[in-house]
Amino acid sequence: MHRLLAILQCSETGMDYRKPLTQAQKATFLFDQDSPWRSHLAWLSATAIVPALAMATAFAIAPNSATEATPNRAWITESLALPTVNTLPMSGNRYWRAEIIQRGDRLLTVLSRLGIQRADSASLLQQDEMSKDLLKLPAGATLHVQTNDQGQLFAVRFLKDDAQGETQLVWLQRRDGNWQTHADAIEPRRLEGVAHIRLQGKQSFQQAAQRADLPREVLQQLQEIFSDRMALQSLRSGDSVQVVFERLYYEGDLIGYGQVLAAHVQQDKQTFTAFYHQHDSESGSYYDSNGQPLKQGFTVEPVEGARITSGFGIRVHPVLGSLRMHQGVDYAAAIGTPVRAPAAGQVVSAEYQDGYGNVVTLRHQTRYQTLYAHLSRFGEQAKPGKTVKEGDIIGYVGNTGRSTGPHLHFEVRVNQQPVDPSSTVLKTPPLSGPALAQFKQVGQRYQQQLAMLRQLPVQLAQAE
Ligand SMILES: [Zn+2]
Repeated sequence: MHRLLAILQCSETGMDYRKPLTQAQKATFLFDQDSPWRSHLAWLSATAIVPALAMATAFAIAPNSATEATPNRAWITESLALPTVNTLPMSGNRYWRAEIIQRGDRLLTVLSRLGIQRADSASLLQQDEMSKDLLKLPAGATLHVQTNDQGQLFAVRFLKDDAQGETQLVWLQRRDGNWQTHADAIEPRRLEGVAHIRLQGKQSFQQAAQRADLPREVLQQLQEIFSDRMALQSLRSGDSVQVVFERLYYEGDLIGYGQVLAAHVQQDKQTFTAFYHQHDSESGSYYDSNGQPLKQGFTVEPVEGARITSGFGIRVHPVLGSLRMHQGVDYAAAIGTPVRAPAAGQVVSAEYQDGYGNVVTLRHQTRYQTLYAHLSRFGEQAKPGKTVKEGDIIGYVGNTGRSTGPHLHFEVRVNQQPVDPSSTVLKTPPLSGPALAQFKQVGQRYQQQLAMLRQLPVQLAQAE
């Protein structure tokens, strides 16, 4: 039998009353109650005991106990009445809950951990298309469900990687008993995040960035932004980097990172600054504090004079209205428009792929790889192993694969990781007139923000 000892002290008499209570007594009392909440009550009583014990410890070390006369002590066993606990009535309110998929988890197990009624879990799993995606969720993925306190299921959302390597936010909602893909447009909230990285000792920039919790996506962007001016890997002890970047939130959850908006690098006595300037809603480039382009970029465009209709990054899916990670840029152009190699390189592959349709991949002398998708047909030069010159036709705009209309999907990768073509390899347009005035105005605000970051102690600046 487990005994709990509660020491009660009466302040008027200075006497101690020690009362042994037994767990068994309390447990019997609780489980005799014919209430669906009895297990909850059991938990409540367990938590109520903790402060009582804490109190007991406090009194046990009360001063002067040695000098006072030993009080008379007696063991008394007594049932104590529990205070009445008013449970809240079911509100029916809906709220979101999230659960991380564990290794070896079955979907039903995850849903039951989330407190979902069995009938509702079954109805979700009966939806063929969706349950296929849901069942494929890997360990570590997060499943969000909208439920009420009765365990009814109203909506489900999760991030899913599709065949094209794009990440989609799938949002399912139950309407009139049927499960539907959410059709309303979704816009993530953009909030600014900052980081201040100072290298110490033998630390490499990579290590310092990791210690500062700089997201991998932001680190990669930083390396790309300054790559024509300096290598971040060459930074040494005492050098520092400050960065302002976009954090994208959806329904309170961090779903990804947007652009680096401003960055400052101090290397020995040299400084480098970069500011992002948006050309339109789909593209932008980096300039230094004088408004000069930071990158040279390719001189030839993949599709001459075409407009970018969908930019890189998190975008709203045109058909589903859900969010997806767009790993390239889309050029609007008629079927048959020539697609040119923007720089000299070698053809890695020219083949048909499920999502991409007819797709050509090039490796350039620099560290870049480029990819051209949805082509109607291949150019003569587009044969694996062949070399191409800048401006050579490698294919023609089409609508093959999973495509919503004739366009060229153009991707740029560094070490297999997709990067934003418009700010890395595409020509940076010079700034003048109103664009330059706007750049200077926005730049001033970021200059101040970066200067402020430099002055903060490192730990504080990284706490965001
Ligand atoms: Zn695309």
